[in-house]
Amino acid sequence: MAVIGSGPAGVYAADALTRQRRVPVRVDVMDRLPTPYGLVRYGVAPDHVKIKGVARSLRRILEHPDVRFVGGVEFGADLTRADLARTHHAVVYATGASVDRRMGVPGEDLPGSVAATDFVNWYCGHPDTELERFVLDAEEVVVVGAGNVALDVARILAKTADELRHTDIPQPVLDALAASRVRTVHLLSRRGPLQARFTAPELRDLLALPGADVVVRPEQVDIDPTAVGAGGPELREVARAARTNLRLLREHAAREPRGRPRAVRLHFWARPQRVLGTDRVSGVRVESTRLDAEGRLAGTGHTTDLPAGMVLRSVGYAGVPLPGVPFDPERRTVPQERGRVLDAEGRVVGGDYVAGWIKRGATGVIGTNKSDAAATVRSLLEDAGALRAAAPDLVPLEELLDERGVAHSDYRDWLRIDTAEAEQAVQLDRGERVKLHGWAAYRRLLEG
Ligand code: NAP
Repeated sequence: MAVIGSGPAGVYAADALTRQRRVPVRVDVMDRLPTPYGLVRYGVAPDHVKIKGVARSLRRILEHPDVRFVGGVEFGADLTRADLARTHHAVVYATGASVDRRMGVPGEDLPGSVAATDFVNWYCGHPDTELERFVLDAEEVVVVGAGNVALDVARILAKTADELRHTDIPQPVLDALAASRVRTVHLLSRRGPLQARFTAPELRDLLALPGADVVVRPEQVDIDPTAVGAGGPELREVARAARTNLRLLREHAAREPRGRPRAVRLHFWARPQRVLGTDRVSGVRVESTRLDAEGRLAGTGHTTDLPAGMVLRSVGYAGVPLPGVPFDPERRTVPQERGRVLDAEGRVVGGDYVAGWIKRGATGVIGTNKSDAAATVRSLLEDAGALRAAAPDLVPLEELLDERGVAHSDYRDWLRIDTAEAEQAVQLDRGERVKLHGWAAYRRLLEG
């Protein structure tokens, strides 16, 4: 079996495949990068050390004798769907949602308006992002969105380099954060505190920042906590989480700001109407909003301009089409039923499966991918007999990669990067790991 993508969804799919004994399987987990773990490595904020610990359990799965990690292989460029049909009985696509959603307002492409995904990639040391990509010379920054990613980027901007010293942030990125001139981060939520998408643990982390005042306006959180609505079990769960957020925000709003050097200001009922500026971003025009009688978001027509030298758009992630694989451009996911890929007519595409964000959209926490991947693997195992019968003779993957001249890497190569990063942390006297940054650093290590 082939798994494309070594983030949590892909690795959990490998786990579900190798945990069962009914159908003997060998799994190749492939990734474009020489480093596994996807968003656990390049998405989870560096100061979320506990969540980063998920990598330890993913590591045990990759080290299973029937699982092999193959890095440096880009689906679509190095290997096509037709190639994989020659090398594997089935493919699970677990490529995630790697690009940002758009806000759809004028000015969003001005220099200085950037996708939070870019900023996250930068501080997580993603090799595709240049070190010079961010110079934090703006005093005021607007972060648009009220999800967990928005809280992550606001928190990283509000922390001092000293607070981040023991994280795995690449040293040049830490130096850039140390030189940051950012003093105020405005966080815009287009709906109210009961509708915000962030979760309580992340909100607690933000509110507990030691070096920044987090400013919550009391009048914005003085609302009826039952206004979120009742309903089925799912909605009740959402309502419970929303009420916890509201309680935390209210408690916080009652506190006096301490006059700390940095501030994060939360603005609810505030949607960006346009990004201001001519040559580059100078601010954001924000329209006040409310919910109408049907619970839909409506503008009030009242606007204010917030000054900002940088705008971080954190309004969600979207999947990108995979060459030769069906794609739903509206939902930005691969159409599927119980993990089986469906074509434009809704028929099952034999041998193709999906797991994770490319299957269900960019929602849920890391653990959500475990049950999601397991459900996909159940469908795959039901089909296993027919898949084997359809392709009795397979070509070894290495043979095909060699034929194509694809210089791939393996798990031992990853361990070399892993060790180099741990050594760097010792040399710099910084935590357990300091990430290498950039393709050149990986190449130097792997080719040297
Ligand atoms: P998200 O949870 O979908 O939040 C997106 C936010 O952007 C929402 O507040 C949304 O508001 C807002 N938004 C969307 N379009 C907008 C527009 N045009 N103008 C203004 N605001 C707009 O996305 P995310 O923060 O990128 O997170 C993605 C997933 O990763 C989530 O499941 C998240 O929980 C998860 N994650 C988890 C952690 C963690 O557990 N520590 C950390 C990071 C990410 P509406 O609600 O009004 O649409």
